[in-house]
Amino acid sequence: MDLEDINTVAVLGAGNMGHGIAEVAAMAGYDVRMRDINDEFVTNGYEQIEWSLNKLAENDQLTQDEADAALERVTPLVDMEEAVGDADIVIEAVPEKMEIKTDVYGDLEAAAPEEAIFATNTSSLSITDLSEVTDRPERFCGMHFFNPPVRMPLVEVITGEHTDESVLEVTEALAEDFGKSPVRVHKDTPGFIVNRILVPLMNEASWLVSTDQATIAEVDSTTKFDMGLPMGSFELGDQVGNDVSYHVLEYMHEVLGDAYEPAPLLEEKVENEELGKKTGKGFYDYEDGDGVDIPTDEQSELVKRRLTASMANEIAKLIGDDVAPPESIDEAVMLGAGFPDGPVTVVDEFGLEAALETLESAHEETGHARYEPASYLRERADVGTFYDPAGGDDDVDFEAIRVEYPGEMVGHIVFDRPHRMNTVSEQLIDEVVDAVELFEDDEDVRAILVTGEGDKAFSAGADIQSMAAGGADPLHGTELSRKGQSAFGTLESSDLPVVAGIDGYCLGGGMELAACADLRVASERSEFGQPELDLGLIPGWGGTQRLPKIVGEGRAKEIILTADRYDAETMESYGFVNEVSENDDLEERAFELAASLAGGPPIASKYTKRAMLAGRNDTNAGLEYEAAAFGQLMGTDDLMEGITAFMSDGDAEFEGK
Ligand code: NAD
Repeated sequence: MDLEDINTVAVLGAGNMGHGIAEVAAMAGYDVRMRDINDEFVTNGYEQIEWSLNKLAENDQLTQDEADAALERVTPLVDMEEAVGDADIVIEAVPEKMEIKTDVYGDLEAAAPEEAIFATNTSSLSITDLSEVTDRPERFCGMHFFNPPVRMPLVEVITGEHTDESVLEVTEALAEDFGKSPVRVHKDTPGFIVNRILVPLMNEASWLVSTDQATIAEVDSTTKFDMGLPMGSFELGDQVGNDVSYHVLEYMHEVLGDAYEPAPLLEEKVENEELGKKTGKGFYDYEDGDGVDIPTDEQSELVKRRLTASMANEIAKLIGDDVAPPESIDEAVMLGAGFPDGPVTVVDEFGLEAALETLESAHEETGHARYEPASYLRERADVGTFYDPAGGDDDVDFEAIRVEYPGEMVGHIVFDRPHRMNTVSEQLIDEVVDAVELFEDDEDVRAILVTGEGDKAFSAGADIQSMAAGGADPLHGTELSRKGQSAFGTLESSDLPVVAGIDGYCLGGGMELAACADLRVASERSEFGQPELDLGLIPGWGGTQRLPKIVGEGRAKEIILTADRYDAETMESYGFVNEVSENDDLEERAFELAASLAGGPPIASKYTKRAMLAGRNDTNAGLEYEAAAFGQLMGTDDLMEGITAFMSDGDAEFEGK
């Protein structure tokens, strides 16, 4: 089955999650059958979809016509046969009770087409166990949305023991078509990725308070203002719901052992029905008290060490057991929990040796199983990080480019093929990637400047001669295109601001590369263009996608379809060039600009770039990111430095802390 074979989506359960999932599917153009056990529940879910679609239209995130059309695609139903009789995929979101789900799958199996995929939205039951209740365990997987599905960009796609690879691929493709970002979970393990990181963290925070090693204020002050997480641990717990965390934890305890024994404080909250925001009281009091109230200055070194080490231990178990690689863990937790930096990155910065030492000494002190270091953590402690250290060590040899350090915290990439108009060869592509990595790993570099050697060309495009070596093989062409797209993308997604200084020809692949810079300065004599169509090609290194984001679709089509040449002034009026300088001043101006960005606040620059990239195709994801990053910046020294300098009318000296 391919994505094209999926037209009708059945959603079982019209509750919190079910109605949201149905709405997402309908917005993506699918026919949706939403089923609940009686008219009242299903109508209620339908009305919530209607309310939410109208709200999106009010906020201009959809037109009213699109909202109406989406609603029309949703059919609320009570009869199981009508609901699933012609479904291509069934997404189950009924209550989190094995008995209920078992009953539902019994009825479903009898009524659904044989080839339909079954996907469960369960948070804390085993995908394999659920799949074995049906006659189609190989066509069964987890499709775990986050609450609320309309806003949250992450979907964890989880394999059961029997799931076919093709089923996972179609489910991921469907999640993407829903406008979500799927992350694959390669093993059916309690909590999958996001909850496996968050819930034990929450539990460790509770243990620290239960054993009088810290107060709630200290824990939350540390997590929010020191560790780089978007919220206090207890603030997050109250938001998720203490019963939900407890439930997931119990399941982990049962399957994974005593390391997941719930802390007395958490147990007590659940017993007293202090479940968090939803009941008005949890760790904080939302009705009679002030709600969340986190001091900015009660950080505790012990809390930071213990929580970071616990997180490192969970990450080690996930990676070591092949549940997910570091990139997936970071992506999932950033998208699913709004972390501005992924947990693997946070832990890597802390250092795995320090994490291991913390666990070992805490284990000695308490004897508790949760401090037993995972074997993979021991294995990686020598390396120091979960991510492999960047390949680019200091003595990387560059040939097609030069890497220079002109001062003022600027790292300078010079395309060094003046005899060939600085055209882009495969070697140059590889070297740009290495150079970006080199600069990113260098604490003394805070901005990147890219220029071309000589005064003829920034870069006159792809080196057709060297590229033609691959012959007319379409596969080679596609590969080459992907390679350039992602290599240039490293500039676009680099945490460092990037300035392109353009003098002379900036054509084809050269212009696509320049489009990945954050700012562009050009000399008066520069000439721009995307001449690919003249060769019977299209821009293949991101030009059809990135250029319209900068100059708008109308101008991008003009530039690409006419394949004409443009002067610097025109490109300035199109918004591609930020500034035109006199020919002789170009180099100096470009450097000045790069130096001024390098002097800016590094964390805020990084978050700005990431938020814009995250929101490029999904404004909600971008807004989520922006909010989390904004909160994060509140705890930085850079903010204090910026404010102090502002008040005293001086220049800030940002340290990136
Ligand atoms: P909910 O209680 O809001 O909704 C469940 C709905 O299923 C109810 O309307 C109920 O009437 C209906 N239902 C019961 N039996 C049914 C049946 N036989 N056929 C069809 N509908 C039936 O619960 P929820 O929060 O939407 O959770 C649903 C699932 O999603 C659970 O597995 C939960 O673990 C998972 N989940 C929840 C969240 C969350 O934050 N709430 C997040 C991710 C996943």
